[in-house]
Order: sequence, then structure tokens, then C-alpha cells
Amino acid sequence: MEKKQTVVVIPGDGIGPAITQSVKEILIASGACLEFEDHKMGKDASLEEINNAMKAFERTGVMLKGPTETPVSTKGQKSFNVTARKGHGLFVNFRRSMSFDPIIKTSFPNQDITIFRENEEGLYSAVEHRHTPDGIQALSLKSESGMYKIIRAAFEYALETGKTKVSCLHKGNILKNTEGTFLEIFKIISADYPGIEAHSQIIDDGMAKVASFPENYQVIVTENLFGDILSDVTTQLTGSLGLGGSANIGSRQAMFEAIHGTGPDILPGGKLNPSNTHIANPSGLLQGAILMLDYIGGTANKKAAADIQNAWLWMLEDGLHTLDIARLKDGVPQNPLTKEVIDTNSFTNSMITRIKRIQTGHQPRLKSLQRLAYKHVSLNPTDNESIQKLKRTKPFAMPKMETKTVGFDVFIKWTGHEDPWILDTFARKSGTDLRDLLNLSHFSTLQEALEYTHWIHECLLLILSKNPELADKSFASPGLPSLIEELGFSSQVSELSDQAHKRSFSDLEQAFEIVRHYHQILVASITHCLGEKLESIAGRHNFRLEAVSCRGQSVYPHIMDPDLVDQMRCTFIWLGLYDNEASDKQIHKDILALLASIAEAGLDRAKTEELHEFRRPDGEWIKGYSDCYGQNMGTSPAN
Ligand code: NAD
Repeated sequence: MEKKQTVVVIPGDGIGPAITQSVKEILIASGACLEFEDHKMGKDASLEEINNAMKAFERTGVMLKGPTETPVSTKGQKSFNVTARKGHGLFVNFRRSMSFDPIIKTSFPNQDITIFRENEEGLYSAVEHRHTPDGIQALSLKSESGMYKIIRAAFEYALETGKTKVSCLHKGNILKNTEGTFLEIFKIISADYPGIEAHSQIIDDGMAKVASFPENYQVIVTENLFGDILSDVTTQLTGSLGLGGSANIGSRQAMFEAIHGTGPDILPGGKLNPSNTHIANPSGLLQGAILMLDYIGGTANKKAAADIQNAWLWMLEDGLHTLDIARLKDGVPQNPLTKEVIDTNSFTNSMITRIKRIQTGHQPRLKSLQRLAYKHVSLNPTDNESIQKLKRTKPFAMPKMETKTVGFDVFIKWTGHEDPWILDTFARKSGTDLRDLLNLSHFSTLQEALEYTHWIHECLLLILSKNPELADKSFASPGLPSLIEELGFSSQVSELSDQAHKRSFSDLEQAFEIVRHYHQILVASITHCLGEKLESIAGRHNFRLEAVSCRGQSVYPHIMDPDLVDQMRCTFIWLGLYDNEASDKQIHKDILALLASIAEAGLDRAKTEELHEFRRPDGEWIKGYSDCYGQNMGTSPAN
């Protein structure tokens, strides 16, 4: 008699309790060697209930989880799902999507894609900060060890299941440090699997190609957010989000679920379900449960998994379909192979009837879906202990790399108009006092003035495009068309027209030319003042100002014509690097002194980041931080 595995069951929210109950009943009927321990986790669960659920998961190692609701809002509960994944080291998110054609007609009858989505890192770290009123950031926290584990798992799976191609979808062209490293590790690991084609593609191209030629992909490995989006797309391509199962696997525990969420629109009384019965398709969670049986292993569980999968295919072929597969329109199934539209309850009963028949010797004669008949997949990282595998999957060895601190980034809250030094310098150099401008034109901040010029420019363009005859007329002439009134621009236009008089713009085209240049000159001049100020501070503390950038775009020393927000990244490189006598301790002293001077100069520090370089085993020093866009492009007012 095999030992029963205890499974923590979380019904979850929305359609979760109904589909979880269905899957539990099917598992019991299948004779799987399991016992269930029910726990609560979800929007109505108390902290104590959630803690108990997590502890039970740590004890038993296996969880079957219904979807849980995570409100979309600026505050509130962090996702339970992500907490369970990250809190237990479940680094693999495994999602397979296969076509059920012709039962569920799709344009891609040969689709069979398995996605290995990295499950603990990236933007899902959800470490976010608002440092200034305008600027907000989300950190994409990643590690080489995390990348190594997920890529290794994808290749191991491909090897075990006889797949011939693994595709790495990445964004290494833009995110050179994080995504570029992902691609590098992919290439290194692929060398251990000479029989498998290692294919890589930039995610945007890859996503488009997956959506149009899914049959060209077998196993895909990608980072967390890309994998999340991609797996919904690939599942939807098979016909319904309700069909996909998902396994979250770590080296100690594993959690199984459906890909989809709480389906609020198909709850009884929901937007798509006026009835008072549950109509959700339990198939996604059921597929998750089959993956769970594969993971737990053992003869009884493998048999149960096979019986469930084959009973499910049999039911699909018999035309018993939930509403998402029947594709109901005005109550009429659009799927020509649907014989009966079933609700969640009938799904459970029909499944149990078929499982019982299979258990008593009936072999369902699958026709079109035979190719999807159950095949065991080894998902448990510890259940194949061959020496070869252990050799290949040896743990990640942290590369030994010499590290040096080379400088630091200070992010400052800065809008220009708050800095008297900049305003004075600007006034001296340009003959224009921005304070007068701000007073003259009701703007409370320079940012507003810049936004406004941008907006006026748009208005002018629109007016001109609809009234080309205005181009050679006097801007302030009477008889501007009623269109201006209609568009609601009249007050702005008359304001501009006042300015036009003062500055004697001769016509509209000239006005909007000037507005455009005004933006560019203003932005370039004030950021240049900031750069000069920071350079003078840096010089006093053994640093060189490398660049100032805004949202990653250079504004000093090189600048194009960017729109600004209120946060500037100021990158300082330590000059002591070139002095053999200077120690690593000295740089930290110099950083503190520089920071103090920045504060004394009235600049408002939002945050700092140290900058490092690393020496690789091949001796090459690599930068551990990114340059900004346009660092050596655009104009330099200094020249
Ligand atoms: P959703 O997946 O709940 O629904 C998307 C669409 O798919 C809906 O039209 C829905 O009716 C349909 N659908 C989903 N499951 C189905 C099923 N079993 N049978 C038939 N049709 C089904 O996504 P959403 O509406 O964007 O999200 C709702 C909530 O679910 C959110 O709070 C979200 O955070 C949560 N969510 C949870 C998980 C999880 O726990 N793993 C995953 C995704 C979303």
C-alpha cells in the first residue's frame, strides 16, 4: 500500500471554491493516493488562516490552489499567489498549452508549447517606490542563480520529454544587464545539451511569432512577467483560458493551480452568467491536478492521472462542453461539436462516471484527441537520480568575481524652478528670468510651463492641420475660426495671442516654431545649469560627473529635446580609481562628503545607488550599471 500524500487544498475566491470542489471529487474518484487538508487563503481569510495554510504547505510540500483575488489598486493586499511562490522558493512556473483541435477549433491544430516561466524574480518582486511627487519606480530584481535554475530546468525537461528545441525569449537589446545576462546564461547552459536546438529571440518578435506560428515552438524559457503574459496568450490560442493548468515547482515544495483567475464575470449572477448555477470550466485546475499527480509520482497516482486525462478527453470528444468550449452566443453553441452544454456540477459527475467506467475495464476509443492521451512527465526535481542528470544539474556555482566600487548615482528631486542658483544663472546667461515667466503665466512650476508649451504646440498643430489657410495669416488677426471656440482652446489661444503680440510673432507657423524651440532651449538651458552646478560640487570631492539623466534619457552633458519629470539621476565616477594609493574605504568617505555638499547646495536627494564593476574569470572588467540613453548623442550646450 503506497503512502498517502497530504495535499493542502485552497478553494480560493470567485469561481475557485466551485472548481476546487469539482477537482477534489474527481481526484477522490480516481483512487489517487492522496489525503486532503483544507485551508483558507484569499480575500476573506484572516492572517492567522493564511499563516496556517503556509505552515501546512511547508509541512506537506504540496498544495492544490484555486485562484485568489488580488485587487488592482494603489494600496492593499499583496498577491497571496506570489507570496506562496516566492516564500517557498517555487522557481519554476510550468505551463503547457496544447491544441484540442478539432474538438475546439483553432487556427493552430499542431500547437504544443511548454513555457518555463521564471517565478520568483523580476518586476514580481514588486519593490516599488515613489521618491518624488511625479516619479515612481518598480525594481526588477533578478539574480544569475535564479536565471541559471530556470534555464537548467527547461533544458532538463526538454531532454526528458524528447523535445528538440528550447527557445529563450528575452529583452537583451534594451535591458543589457538583466536580460542580456539571461541570454548569456542560456547560451552557456545550452552547451550541455548538444542534441537540443538553442533558439533565442527578442520577446516582442517572439510573442508575435508565437501568436502566429505557435507550432514552431516546443519549450520556451523566459522571465517572470513575459512568461505570465505569454502563457495566457498561448492558452487562449488553444480555445479558452479555462483549459490551462500550471505547476509552481521548487526544490522542496510545489503548488498546482489553473492559469486563470477568479472569473468574476462567470460567477452565478455575474455579467456573463445570469443563472444561479456555477458554469466555470474546472479543466484548468484539473490539468494542474494531473501535473500534481505526476510530481508526487507512485503507481496509484500515475494510474489516477492517466484515468483522469483519458476520461477528460473522452468527455470532450463526446461533446459535453462547458460554456467556454461550447462558445455560446445568445444561448446557442457556436461549436458544431458541442452536444450538450454542461455546468460545473455536470462536469464533475460526467468525469466521475467516465473514470469509474475506465476503472472497470472500459477503454475509451479516442479519435481526434488520441495524441493528447496521458504520458507521464517527471516534474519532481528529485525523482530522477541518474548520475548523468545529477552531473548536469549540479547546483549553481556563484562566479568568483573581483568587485570594485567605482562611483554612485544620486537621484534628486528636481524641477528647476525651485533652485535659486539655477534660476539666477539662467537669468544671467539668457536674459530671461524664469520667475517672471512663471508669474506672468500662472504656472506654478517650470514643469507645468514645459508641459504647457508642449500642449500649445499640439493645439497649434491641430488648428493648422484643419485650417491650412491660417498658416500665412496674422496669428492675432480677428476671425480665427469658430473651430478654436469649439475645441475649447479659446482661452489658451488668446493667452498665446497676447504673447504673440509681445513677441511680435508674425504668423501662426512662426508662433509654433518658436513654441517648439522655446521648449528645447528652456530644457537644455536649465539642465545645463544643473549639470554645471553638480560638476562644480563633484570637482571638490574627487568625483567626475558622468551624466545627468531623466527616466533613463541623458539631459547633461548631451541633450536632445526630452520631456522632463521631477527626478534626475546624477552619475558620479570616483577619480580615486586612477590613484593606486586610494583605498575602497576612501570612496565611501568621499561619497558621504559629496552627498553632504549636494544637500548643502539645496538639492533634494531622493535615493542613491552605488556603482560597481566586476572582473570576470577571463580578466575583463564589466560594468555593473547601465548608461543612459543618448549619453553621447544630441547637443552639448557646453560646446
Ligand atoms: P480571469 O482569468 O479570472 O478571467 C479572464 C476571462 O477568462 C474571463 O472572461 C473569465 O470568464 C474567463 N475564465 C477564467 N476562468 C475560466 C473558467 N474556469 N472557465 C471558463 N472561463 C473562464 O482574469 P481576471 O478577470 O483578469 O482576474 C480576476 C481576478 O483573478 C483578479 O483579482 C486577479 O488578480 C485574479 N487572478 C488570480 C490568479 C491566481 O490566483 N493564480 C491568476 C490570474 C488572475
